[in-house]
Amino acid sequence: MPPRSKKQVRVCRNCHHVVDGESCVTCGSSNLSDDWTGYLYIVDPKRSKIAEKMNIDMPGRYALKVR
Ligand SMILES: [Zn+2]
Repeated sequence: MPPRSKKQVRVCRNCHHVVDGESCVTCGSSNLSDDWTGYLYIVDPKRSKIAEKMNIDMPGRYALKVR
């Protein structure tokens, strides 16, 4: 089994959440992309300016930019 590279990790195009399965756990969207840059780990969305800017209200892993 080849190691998981960053390229194989997919993110939700709708909310930028990093997705492990076939659909996004946050918004339920299956509109996923493996073309993304910028890894974000949001611990406390209410105190994060980036989270506020991206409308993130759940802690977790996100991508900064999704194509
Ligand atoms: Zn989503």
